[in-house]
Amino acid sequence: MKCKKCLYLWESRVREPKACPRCKNRLDYEIVKNINNNLKEVM
Ligand SMILES: [Zn+2]
Repeated sequence: MKCKKCLYLWESRVREPKACPRCKNRLDYEIVKNINNNLKEVM
């Protein structure tokens, strides 16, 4: 994984880590999940 904020590179055990282990910056995956949830609600 690569953090867009601090450019920290690390190997993540999970596919979608919630945050950067270095700077605790939230990754974009949560946004994607929210979009998916919104789509489910619409459907
Ligand atoms: Zn970071």
